Amino acid sequence: MQDKSTYVEVLIMKRISVILLIFSTVIIPTVMAQDNVITFEVGLAKVTLLSEGQRTSGTNVLVGATEEMIKQAIPNGTYPGATNVFLVEIAGKAVLIDAGLGKKTIENLEFYGKKAAEIDAIFITHLHGDHIGSLILNDVKSYPKAMLYISKPEYDSYMENANMRKLFDTYKDQIYTFMPGEIDNAKELIPGLKAIAAYGHTPGHTGFLLESDDSKLLFWGDLTHAMAIQMPFPEVAMTYDSDKAKAIETRQKLLNYLSDDYIRIAGAHIQYPGIGYLSKRVDNGYDFTLLCGCEGVYPDVK
Ligand SMILES: [Zn+2]
Repeated sequence: MQDKSTYVEVLIMKRISVILLIFSTVIIPTVMAQDNVITFEVGLAKVTLLSEGQRTSGTNVLVGATEEMIKQAIPNGTYPGATNVFLVEIAGKAVLIDAGLGKKTIENLEFYGKKAAEIDAIFITHLHGDHIGSLILNDVKSYPKAMLYISKPEYDSYMENANMRKLFDTYKDQIYTFMPGEIDNAKELIPGLKAIAAYGHTPGHTGFLLESDDSKLLFWGDLTHAMAIQMPFPEVAMTYDSDKAKAIETRQKLLNYLSDDYIRIAGAHIQYPGIGYLSKRVDNGYDFTLLCGCEGVYPDVK
């Protein structure tokens, strides 16, 4: 369990040190065109947002959102989102969490200073196209040495699809399937990264828990798509959840645990910078606070 006050203090100290740094160097960091790449420390690990872009979505993809909920949570009928990939550097390994749409993931990696050939592993939350898009580009395998970690229920359900089989044939000696654990008994895949069952959005949708030096962060993939309404009303599902009732049940369970333990989370579709923390409301639902981005570091612009 992470102590809330300690975390807040650390956050405040980090903000103060960033402000001091700004004034000591008299260089004011502006939010650059490359603000899609920013690195945060999580214990001894480094987590880098590699965002493929920000977006705004509407209510047409929401399931179970009443007029009253919409009026309260998203009165103008739209909400922000993004398509995010994350790079985790831990114990000498470079691990991607998902592989994005394929629009900018490789470019973002190179901007950060890593080649796709240097990626050791890709932990895939699920097999939708916006999470595996950069695996093959122009018919060429993008990650020659990366081991792909995919939950067994996810892999098995998608291998019924011929196109999916063809795609993963390209990586046939680089696939590792596993059964995820539960949030309080997660399955360790490599030191510092564990898998958690988060089924519902897809049959084997999986979260990955990073633990380093008493700090924790859960990459929760597509546990949410519309934070603005799914935090106050986690019972709202999406048209593209394959099992909506299961997706809601999983979301309720994980939100409860994560807010109780004050575990930071990173989401594939959360707006910039894609990372934040939850707190339980007294009545119903949750509040979500994004990190401001000022806690992170931009790569040097060359
Ligand atoms: Zn997605």
